[in-house]
Amino acid sequence: MQLADNTIITEIKTSGRLPSPTGVALSILELTRDPNTSTEDMATVLMGDPSLTGQILKYANAATGGARGEVTNINDALVRLGMSMVRQLCLGFSVLSNSRGGPCSEFDYSRYWTRSLAMAVSSHALCSRIKSVSPDEGFTCGLLGKIGHLALASVYPDRYADILDHWEEGPLAELAQLESQDLSINHNQVSAALFTDWGLPETYRIAVDVQDQTEWDDPPTGRSAKDRGIQLGRVLNIASLAADICLETGPHRHPMVIEFMKIGEDLGYSEEKWTLLYDEILAEWERLGQLLNIVTSTVPSMENLVRRAREFRGELTDNKKKKDRNTSDSDATIESLAEPVESGCLEILVASDSPVDTRILEKKLDSKEFHLTTAVDGQEALEIALKASPDLILTDWMMPKLDGLELTRSLRQSTQTAGTYIIIMTAQDGSDQLVEAFDAGIDDYVTKPICYKILHARLKAATRLINLQNEAARHQEEVRRTVSEMGILNRKLQTMAMEDQLTGLPNRRCGLDHFDKEWSRTTRSGESVLCMILDIDHFKNVNDTYGHDAGDVVLQKTAAVMQNTMRDSDIVCRFGGEEFLVICPGADVEMAKVLGDRIRKAVEGNIIDSTEFKGNITISIGVAVRSEWHHSPADLIKNADEALYAAKEAGRNMVCIAGSG
Ligand code: GH3
Ligand code: MG
Ligand code: MG
Repeated sequence: MQLADNTIITEIKTSGRLPSPTGVALSILELTRDPNTSTEDMATVLMGDPSLTGQILKYANAATGGARGEVTNINDALVRLGMSMVRQLCLGFSVLSNSRGGPCSEFDYSRYWTRSLAMAVSSHALCSRIKSVSPDEGFTCGLLGKIGHLALASVYPDRYADILDHWEEGPLAELAQLESQDLSINHNQVSAALFTDWGLPETYRIAVDVQDQTEWDDPPTGRSAKDRGIQLGRVLNIASLAADICLETGPHRHPMVIEFMKIGEDLGYSEEKWTLLYDEILAEWERLGQLLNIVTSTVPSMENLVRRAREFRGELTDNKKKKDRNTSDSDATIESLAEPVESGCLEILVASDSPVDTRILEKKLDSKEFHLTTAVDGQEALEIALKASPDLILTDWMMPKLDGLELTRSLRQSTQTAGTYIIIMTAQDGSDQLVEAFDAGIDDYVTKPICYKILHARLKAATRLINLQNEAARHQEEVRRTVSEMGILNRKLQTMAMEDQLTGLPNRRCGLDHFDKEWSRTTRSGESVLCMILDIDHFKNVNDTYGHDAGDVVLQKTAAVMQNTMRDSDIVCRFGGEEFLVICPGADVEMAKVLGDRIRKAVEGNIIDSTEFKGNITISIGVAVRSEWHHSPADLIKNADEALYAAKEAGRNMVCIAGSG
């Protein structure tokens, strides 16, 4: 059962902290919705966030490999990358900087971004070969394609920890199933909904939706394999495998490598070219990892990986001794970004370019009460603050790269550091300067030369305030959790109201609602539409002979066969008792008999083998195709019902088309 994207977003927005762009990135998203926005407007807004600007410049230089001269300012980056790409990068980098950590105990945030970056560079490289999708689009989709995963971990931390615990790193499809069971939603649906909310193109949404599917030649979504969204989805699917190869170590990696090579072969690439592509991915992953401060690991070249994988396969088939998972592969593993933090004391980040001042501060302050980390300039302080979220920042005013005020303004723009307590150390005690500092967002100041007794007293006062803030945040967290539980309950109720509990199919009400919508849509488009009523033959006998439970099993198995036989664009619903309604948009009179027979034969050929019932059953089908004398869905259903009656009369296990005599 699919909820509309906007329903998903509204529900989870009210219930928790979604990974989302903030500050300048948000303004940029808004700005670019306006078609009159110029590159100058965008550059002006973007320059308000030095950290984001830095990342865009780094990306622009990495993307062009310096071939067309170094990009040193944001206007050049906008010209070189284009407005829409810069917009997407802002989105990606901003979400990244706001979601490097989070509340879900079982979710490995660092690994998540490591994998996302591997996916981003892989899909970038694949798109540059495949050509139908732009590499930069591939990068954005790869970086954010699994954002639903992160969103669920952020919004439902405890439940999601349980889900991950149950999943044990199994196949992604299993995770999606567990998510749907517990949260009534899965991560790909959330990703797609977030993409819609951020105003990303429909192509991306489709790609994200289909990325985990296994069938690509004839996509089950009813779209053409040439559709750009499907092609991008396919790229994401391959990129996901490439990313897994980057992260996995030991013998688990061998079958992945073999599969990856097989894909290259199927796509018509020589082994040499495909191997080269992967090595390019590795180099780019490492390079961008350093730029964006994302942990990457050292992976052997593809040539080596392939050799080892083939040797391993040979050893397995020869039934020789198996390789030891840990000793034979000398690959480095991914280290954790997490740094040990002492609990119970205030984490202070000191930003100062004077080593002497810093050393004195460390000597005077480092104690059981305060733990100090240091940065030598504003830029470094900003990076550390965004990564480690200290409780308090004690900063100089005058510093290289970013001065104290610029640092403060940047910190206030990121959700992670918007509430961090900031004290500025200044020799400037003129009232105008101090007002300017408060306007930039500082909480307090100390004058230089520093009186350490006063600084200590101010830090104590700050500690009291920070503790109160933490207490309020905990309270808010409890409220948030209650709201999020209500969101899940609400979705479950909605699903229950639309879903038949026995078969999992849409129920009568949902089927009729859907039919109404399809009726209006096909009226506008002029497309044909048909409906079928299907009824199990002699079902009463099943109940009477084998019992009601056996009847239930037969209903479930038959429903599953019907669902699997039809296209994704068709809707199959339980109409009541042992009757089903199928709506097929785009199907006409010629297809009526084919579709009816296909479903009838599939049910007849399905041997049920359960403890309650063994054997097969048959169905009778009435089909009606929309024509000009049908004024409503009810007219068409009535005709299909009459045709069903005729099929029963004519001996059952049969398809009758209304109006065909
Ligand atoms: P026909 O070939 O003419 O359709 O005969 P039939 O026996 O299938 O039709 P009939 O309408 O006489 O009987 C339908 C039976 O389906 C009666 C009802 O008890 C049973 N039924 C309806 N809903 C359920 C259900 O959810 N579970 C089970 N086990 N039986 C159900
Ligand atoms: Mg019946
Ligand atoms: Mg029946």
